[in-house]
Amino acid sequence: MFQRMQQPLDFKLLESLERVSRVFKAALWAEAKREGMSPLQVQILLYLHDNPRRPGGVSRLSREFGVTQATISDAVRSLAEKEFLVKIVRPEDRRLKQLKLSLKGHRLAIRTRQRRGLLEARMAGFPIDRKEATLRFLLEFLHQLQKEGLLTEMRLCLSCGNFEPRPDPGPGEAFYCALTQTPLTITDVNFNCSEFLPRRAVPTA
Ligand code: SF4
Repeated sequence: MFQRMQQPLDFKLLESLERVSRVFKAALWAEAKREGMSPLQVQILLYLHDNPRRPGGVSRLSREFGVTQATISDAVRSLAEKEFLVKIVRPEDRRLKQLKLSLKGHRLAIRTRQRRGLLEARMAGFPIDRKEATLRFLLEFLHQLQKEGLLTEMRLCLSCGNFEPRPDPGPGEAFYCALTQTPLTITDVNFNCSEFLPRRAVPTA
């Protein structure tokens, strides 16, 4: 006889996030695996493509993805051998190498990003207020994980020294960016902002 399962809400939320993550990774990887790339190599490729003003080297990527520098070095060596990226030696310190995508790497990153567009298109039909509420929860959850040291280098508005809860918010304007001096709604909150200012602990609004 069928017995109804009693699964807690938090369990179902995490299970849902994991399944979305699986679909997301498979979509991103579909293009890149033809080139024999690992999921980490795809992530590096997309990071360098999305952050041209903040490329950095092996140590930054190690912090970004929470893996050892040796693991990043292996992935970078393979990407360089396949001519998806180049290592640029800094004249001021020849030990530091900055990583930059080649034209071939940019082209693959663009094709891979287009796969993500297919998932975005599937979200388009859902009501905006439900998506905003979901985004707010996810941002606060990610911020909590980051405060506890489980996530690094997110460069998210909620963790930024320029980010301020708004004392007297207008409709939908719960936050404020002190750098750009503009109110932020939940949909204005950014990932990977080039002006991100690290700080240790920021209360969520
Ligand atoms: S927009 Fe950039 S500078 Fe402003 S609060 Fe967000 S991360 Fe910080």
